[in-house]
Amino acid sequence: MTTILNGKELSNIILERVKERVSKLETTPHLVVILVGDNPASKIYVNNKKKAAEKVGIKSTIIEMPEQTSEDVLLGKIKELNDDNSVTGILVQLPLPEHIDKGKVITAISPKKDVDGFNPENVGKLATGLEPYFYPATPQGIIMLLDEYKIPIEGAHAVVIGRSNIVGRPMAQMFLNRNATVTICHSHTKNLEDIIKTADILISAVGKKIVRCKMGYNSVVVDVGIYKDSNGKLTGDVDFDTVSPSCAYISPVPGGVGPMTIASLMYNASKIYS
Ligand code: NAP
Repeated sequence: MTTILNGKELSNIILERVKERVSKLETTPHLVVILVGDNPASKIYVNNKKKAAEKVGIKSTIIEMPEQTSEDVLLGKIKELNDDNSVTGILVQLPLPEHIDKGKVITAISPKKDVDGFNPENVGKLATGLEPYFYPATPQGIIMLLDEYKIPIEGAHAVVIGRSNIVGRPMAQMFLNRNATVTICHSHTKNLEDIIKTADILISAVGKKIVRCKMGYNSVVVDVGIYKDSNGKLTGDVDFDTVSPSCAYISPVPGGVGPMTIASLMYNASKIYS
């Protein structure tokens, strides 16, 4: 029988753990989220992060800056927050307006306050097998999910579809650091389906319906993709009805990786480095 990886349920357990951890800290963590511009989806994400932070006792502040904010002004604000000892976490909501260099902004955030784990120092540490201050929330949430279900990673063949900086690449590095054998696939990969079928653990982070084949009976399928189909319904990368009977574990969309990402981000936001 296939086990559903219930991210919604587990995320609530993790949020409770974070809440308890926060309640025992001498200092209340303070997360500052910067939102530049009026992107409606970004506004929703930022408000959800604030709500989640409040639920676990983390102080949170949203700084809204207008669309035409210059790169210098944004970098100045980040410097101010880096130097402010009462701020323990900084997150700049992406995407940024086109005139702002995302790389410069990510680099400007102190690695010790970089709750997204996107700063090159944290990325470099992860890539060289060192411990970063923060792991990116989505892959960290997936590792939490696998660990809670006691799914062995060491020695497993982990196939990661997608090589973005926020999901695919850090996911592959985290698996490698846990001694999995890792294959990374992307839009130029040949014979994708043949590779998918060899996975002990499959992570799909693409944003379109890409996994439709039958899997090995012991395999684990984690669907990161989330987008609206032509009927406006939220869906993922995996054709759940075809794939789920053939594998051992599968994460649903919605209710799988999404809630784990929020819980994982709150875990990051509860960390304080001096
Ligand atoms: P992204 O930056 O657009 O990356 C997509 C990746 O998919 C790229 O590496 C691309 O390859 C690869 N790809 C595209 N077409 C492919 C194909 N036909 N075969 C194999 N690989 C293909 O996306 P992302 O930011 O990583 O997000 C991916 C999905 O996850 C989206 O649906 C997003 O909404 C979702 N997501 C969910 C969460 C969550 O918390 N649930 C968090 C983050 C993202 P190339 O590099 O060659 O272009």
